[in-house]
Amino acid sequence: MIFSFVFTAPSPVTHVKKGKISRNSISLSWQEPEQPNGIILEYEIKYFEKDQETSYTIIKSKETEITAEGLKPASSYIFQIRARTAAGYGAFSRRFEFETSPVSFAATGDQSQIPIIAVSVTVGIILLAGMVGFLLSGRRCGYSKAKQDPEEEKMHFHNGHIFCSTTVKLPGIKTYIDPHTYEDPNQAVHEFAKEIDASSITIERVIGAGEFGEVCSGRIKLPGKREFPVAIKTLKVGYTDKQRRDFLGEASIMGQFDHPNIIHLEGVVTKSKPVMIVTEYMENGSLDTFLKKNDGQFTVIQLVGMLRGIASGMKYLSDMGYVHRDLAARNILINSNLVCKVSDFGLSRVLEDDPEAAYTTRGGKIPIRWTAPEAIAFRKFTSASDVWSYGIVMWEVMSYGERPYWEMTNQDVIKAVEEGYRLPSPMDCPAALYQLMLDCWQKDRNSRPKFEEIVSMLDKLIRNPSSLKTLVNSSNRVSNLLVEQNTLGGAAYRSVNEWLEAIKMGRYADTFVENGYTSMDAVTQMTLEDLRRFGVTLAGHQKKIMNSIQEMRAQLLNGMVPL
Ligand code: AMP
Repeated sequence: MIFSFVFTAPSPVTHVKKGKISRNSISLSWQEPEQPNGIILEYEIKYFEKDQETSYTIIKSKETEITAEGLKPASSYIFQIRARTAAGYGAFSRRFEFETSPVSFAATGDQSQIPIIAVSVTVGIILLAGMVGFLLSGRRCGYSKAKQDPEEEKMHFHNGHIFCSTTVKLPGIKTYIDPHTYEDPNQAVHEFAKEIDASSITIERVIGAGEFGEVCSGRIKLPGKREFPVAIKTLKVGYTDKQRRDFLGEASIMGQFDHPNIIHLEGVVTKSKPVMIVTEYMENGSLDTFLKKNDGQFTVIQLVGMLRGIASGMKYLSDMGYVHRDLAARNILINSNLVCKVSDFGLSRVLEDDPEAAYTTRGGKIPIRWTAPEAIAFRKFTSASDVWSYGIVMWEVMSYGERPYWEMTNQDVIKAVEEGYRLPSPMDCPAALYQLMLDCWQKDRNSRPKFEEIVSMLDKLIRNPSSLKTLVNSSNRVSNLLVEQNTLGGAAYRSVNEWLEAIKMGRYADTFVENGYTSMDAVTQMTLEDLRRFGVTLAGHQKKIMNSIQEMRAQLLNGMVPL
């Protein structure tokens, strides 16, 4: 990744020539860029029907010619080409416009029909063959995020032609383009994000701290539109080129998405300072904080509604070939109507070739407790690993923002999960939802449900609320408990004080002693009512203490019980 910025990528392709044109296809050829600056490994061709840029096809070719098939008759198409060397992609060429032949030409009842029929039959066979190949391979074709899966990329090289991409181009379904494949990050951001004039934005107040600067709320007045509230992320002064690139990288990703459960990008300000990213405003902020603040306040249906929204957004992302890698309640935003939207599209860039990067990203850590074991072990990040994270988000939502695996260390989490232990059900959780969480945490990633299945499962539960009445009872809770002997087992604590300190509840040490809980044995007999009686009133604290007690009990009663 780093190398693409050290060596120079190829200059743009400047000479593009149209070849054979039929009513459904356009053949193109082009010359190598004037300054390839290395060996050209492949070309990427982007094309779309004129004025329909939101639905485009990306294809790859090792040759300097392609035939785009499956096009509409008598329609103009825009083509752009760029070359890739070991240094990365060069900039896209300017737009070239070519038109397919008109329908009437095909309709004339003379010999001209013969070649046309031949072409149609060929296209038909290719379509069929492509579909069969697609179905057999069980993969969706289309250009997915670079470096996500080398095997997937091979499909696009097939024949050096568009065999695969054309045949499975799904109308209306766009595929995600990694902005890092652009040599010039400015080009990517302007391809996917609208430039906004700073004078149309009014900043009102600071609402959070982002990685690159403050996050503010404010208002925007766009020409011909009513003023509406927005969130504004700013890039702090004194930024480096790399920081600017990374900052705007998030906008280049977000700008490709259009879904009610994905945070919507209004645009960017890059022509004046401060550089800004403007998105829709989400009144209730991030989901984890919101749930912690409103502990116990929602009906199960409301919580399932939130989860349904998140799953729907994730289905859209996975359909686009985008793997999030950092799905967690803290990266979900929630608005005043309790609509949840997936946000934070910045992490993946850091998880590239650096072997250390698996553990350090954005100066922090890989989100171990949200990440699937295969992604931690060998960086196999896929939509299936996003499904694992989604299961953790379900757990966070149903426990009102509890920290997954509580105070366990990352190393202990990795070990316990590898050994087959899973988070216990949150308190008062419908059995069907906990079962879905466990399904998301299947070790074999192919056995996990797909986002599409999760959405339809949640829809079914919402349509039939009585199915949510069966809760996981406490004995089931215990039998699935995750227990890590050395950090959570009662036997590991020599005193009540030591235990309370370990779970960061040391402030209650005196209360416990005053109420006669002077030994760990006594503590493991304690109930929630006892806690409330002697004045532990904060729900979060009650939960933390009771969860720890239940873990110790489980350990004492059952030993460690793997799934
Ligand atoms: P981020 O840099 O995206 O993690 O944003 C930092 C914080 O700013 C988040 O945790 C939210 O509390 C807040 N925030 C970010 N985007 C929005 C938004 N669109 N609407 C409301 N609050 C936001």
